[in-house]
Amino acid sequence: MTRARHIWTGAAAATLLTVGLLTGCSSTEETTTAECTSAPNGTPVLAAPPTAAGTTTQNLSTNPEIASGYRSGMTAVHTGSYAVSTANPLATEAACRVLHDGGTATDALVTAQLVLGLVEPQASGIGGGAFLLYYDGTTKTVEAYDGREVAPAAATENYLRWVSDADRTEPQPNTRASGRSIGVPGVLRMLELAHREHGKTGWRELFDPAVALADDGFAISPRLAGQIAESARDLARDEAAKQYFLEPDGSPKPAGAKLTNPALSKTLSAIASDGADAFYTGVIAADIVEAATAGSGGRTPSLLTAQDLAGYQVKKRTALCSGYREHEICGMPAPSSGGSTVAATLGILANFDLAALKPEAIDRNGGKPKAEAVHLISEAERLAYADRNKYVADTDFVPLPGNSAQTLIDENYLKQRASLIDPGRSMGTAKPGDFGPVPVGVGPQPPEHGTSHISVVDKYGNAAAMTTTVESAFGSFHLVDGFVLNNQLTDFAADPADPDGTPVANRLQPGKRPRSSMAPTLVFDRAPDGARGELTHVTGSPGGAVIIQFVVKTLIGMLDWGLDPQQAVSAVSFGAGNTPTTGVGGEHPAINATDNGDHDPLVLRLRELGHQVSVAPQSSGLSALHRDGTGLIGGADPRREGAVLGDTR
Ligand code: GLU
Repeated sequence: MTRARHIWTGAAAATLLTVGLLTGCSSTEETTTAECTSAPNGTPVLAAPPTAAGTTTQNLSTNPEIASGYRSGMTAVHTGSYAVSTANPLATEAACRVLHDGGTATDALVTAQLVLGLVEPQASGIGGGAFLLYYDGTTKTVEAYDGREVAPAAATENYLRWVSDADRTEPQPNTRASGRSIGVPGVLRMLELAHREHGKTGWRELFDPAVALADDGFAISPRLAGQIAESARDLARDEAAKQYFLEPDGSPKPAGAKLTNPALSKTLSAIASDGADAFYTGVIAADIVEAATAGSGGRTPSLLTAQDLAGYQVKKRTALCSGYREHEICGMPAPSSGGSTVAATLGILANFDLAALKPEAIDRNGGKPKAEAVHLISEAERLAYADRNKYVADTDFVPLPGNSAQTLIDENYLKQRASLIDPGRSMGTAKPGDFGPVPVGVGPQPPEHGTSHISVVDKYGNAAAMTTTVESAFGSFHLVDGFVLNNQLTDFAADPADPDGTPVANRLQPGKRPRSSMAPTLVFDRAPDGARGELTHVTGSPGGAVIIQFVVKTLIGMLDWGLDPQQAVSAVSFGAGNTPTTGVGGEHPAINATDNGDHDPLVLRLRELGHQVSVAPQSSGLSALHRDGTGLIGGADPRREGAVLGDTR
């Protein structure tokens, strides 16, 4: 029997070595095959030449991967008919096997999510929420699934601000780590629906890899270890989290230590047998309510009930699709602001010749961006964020201007917005467009990222982009039945009204979904008459409100500058929210971040243009796939531990 070539980047293979489970993967073809086997053609190979792999291995072993790490010199992975990119090689590998065995993109997604919840629990899991954009290659339609958390029925608009109307003190020990931040999880119901509509592999089977890993154990990755160490004090407040993540003496478990999770194995086995009902009703639901409302460790309890869980509903939304040059970009609509803000930024930029502003010295890491390009793109982002901040929230509660998702991305409107950009001077802070008296919304911008992105294309031509999150790292630090409960409600504005009393769009209301920035994105060719052509790209990232900037820079890299997906995700991250600060990722080898960037010509030029430049690391977790007519090309973010796998061309 012949076998598939399951292809690893050198860096991905090297990561496996540091993760410790798949020893030897980077050194022999046979070992790689053994991890993702039995295909009809070819033999396994490493995608990157040995020299490149060697270099990257060196970097990895000396440089543990926490959020600000950077694996220099990663190369794109070329595959045949299917590919998957996730932020963890164990998840990629498990999902790759599902694809290899005839599963669809949805099937692979379910398995990837379940494994990620185990090996990257700081970022996502069944206690959180997600948005999924799915392309059905047969009907050529894009479907948008909203698995966002909702606020409990008993949550009032001051739920995050104070304990009760009688006790106007902040929830303890703080809103995020209290029970108050916990929203009704949505990802599992969403995956169940997507699987019912687009799955081929049996639901139960999709749980096998995560259950086996939970039982047999996995090695704590450097990135997870870094996050445990950083969150040790908060984790210690929760008895279950303490037992699981910390040593008996209270010190954080280190990278390489073996972790088994029998509680999660039991939870997943129940859901594998009985479907998502096993989570939303019955014993697990009761455990969730108990963990969230107990108030153990002096934490202010949640008001979550069994009815909240039983009543959770996935929403199918209309994907937000718009033209950008000769492409069609499809994104997630509200309650995520990701799709509309990416589309508005690109719609503004369509008025400029970005192709003429390619980065200099393009190498595997994507080269060095030109100051003019960073200026234009960050100004466009300021304008787009100004509208997002004011107008976008859960549209089931607060309508968008003109009661339409199109108003903020209308071509003529964006042309006017583009005319506000001065090529010689940063505007600092942009004013939102004037659409009359709608409630303004400002949300908190949490600094830590508890999110992951998965990109998949299957051999049937379907594609999935899913961004999945527990909000901040380890969510609300409540661990129950082996999984972390999210703190997604902190994505609502804590303060329900402006100082002048105007209610904000993104205020908390019972049953409402907090505004998100997650931006899972699919790109298609676009005919001159606007008709949708072939699927060309799949991408997305974690990063809180900065997700929008990460996705924009990756799309521009691939669509305007001809970068391959690895170069585009590796490339310097830059951009702006609606503040005078422009971020230029100082973790990137092309940026000289010493003395606050004072010796870096790009930084200096941007300062001349009026930007307040920050060279703080930009901790994205991008993945990107490109379908080019002969096969697929994939990239995984060098700032995380991700890997791309697929079959041979
Ligand atoms: N909760 C954030 C959102 O939905 C994502 C947080 C993150 O990326 O870490 O926009």
